[in-house]
Amino acid sequence: MTTKLNDDDIRALLVCIRAKSKLKRLMLTNCLPVTYALQPLQGTIVLEKLDLDKNQQSLSVEAIVPFLVSIIDNHANSLKHITLPEVWAQRTSSTLDRFLRRYNGMLDYRHFNCAGCKGRENCAESASDVTWLTSGMKHIGEEIFSPQNFTCYKCLRNFCDDSDKTMCCYSCCLRQCSECAPPIDCAECCEPDNFRCSLCVEDDEDTTKVKCEECRENYCQWHKSVRLCFVCNMKRCRSCTGGQLGPEDHRVCKYCSKAICFDCDMDDIMVFCDGCAECMCFQCIEMRGDANNGCVDCNTLAREHLRNKRDRQLETSNPGMEALRQAIREGKIAYQARGP
Ligand SMILES: [Zn+2]
Ligand SMILES: [Zn+2]
Ligand SMILES: [Zn+2]
Ligand SMILES: [Zn+2]
Ligand SMILES: [Zn+2]
Ligand SMILES: [Zn+2]
Ligand SMILES: [Zn+2]
Ligand SMILES: [Zn+2]
Repeated sequence: MTTKLNDDDIRALLVCIRAKSKLKRLMLTNCLPVTYALQPLQGTIVLEKLDLDKNQQSLSVEAIVPFLVSIIDNHANSLKHITLPEVWAQRTSSTLDRFLRRYNGMLDYRHFNCAGCKGRENCAESASDVTWLTSGMKHIGEEIFSPQNFTCYKCLRNFCDDSDKTMCCYSCCLRQCSECAPPIDCAECCEPDNFRCSLCVEDDEDTTKVKCEECRENYCQWHKSVRLCFVCNMKRCRSCTGGQLGPEDHRVCKYCSKAICFDCDMDDIMVFCDGCAECMCFQCIEMRGDANNGCVDCNTLAREHLRNKRDRQLETSNPGMEALRQAIREGKIAYQARGP
């Protein structure tokens, strides 16, 4: 379908399928912002999941929140998971705040039934001080709603934080359990900070894994975590190469793509530019010269390298030069700078 559904389309659809007594999950992703479309669902007790599309920019709090309230007003409601537009976190609305408090309270009151611990005693359900739906900082000064805590977006089961069974994919931003979105066989994708769910592996992605020759962990091709170092000739991952250069712990020349481990670069074969956060190898600098290196800082670094190289060449081509300088420093040879 190429055209997006509007209020009338959705409303007609909901009436037609007798949604109020039948519909358990409603995802309004990829629809036009709705206002009255959800009326047929007022007070439903069967709806379990409602996704209002986190990317929706112009959904009206005033039009939608009373509808949400109509659902949780009924004590028999089945609502387990909601996704709100992220921009709502920046709105100051007492109606929305009141709804959030009630929604969180409602889920708190229900039996948590942690699917990760399955009744085991050390379940951290009650120890969690995070609420279900909370707005969080994305960037400084920019608040967003983080995906609902504890509940898997797909199977709607609850998992306590300690069971480590749900993770937020940083690519699709959904919280899913490890059964619904099995982790990729990649040491980097499995890290909580940059967890990438298996559903987000792109269709055209090269899925062959590269093994780090030191830690023997598998890595997907996506992060380019494993590089062949042209000095030690080993394929190693970022964390095994010894450096902390930020996103790229290998030094990779931006021109010839040659890579070197951080701890193999003893003789300064490459230079890291703080300005553009990229590396250049000295071979490429010598070929390209001190201009047109893409950034001002790169040009400065190139100029510095070429000057140092010239000085070194001067010294090696004229070994007497350093002896002469030394003699001048020690006052063995009188030297007077020529006046203007
Ligand atoms: Zn648990
Ligand atoms: Zn799940
Ligand atoms: Zn994902
Ligand atoms: Zn990966
Ligand atoms: Zn490694
Ligand atoms: Zn190396
Ligand atoms: Zn190079
Ligand atoms: Zn630069």
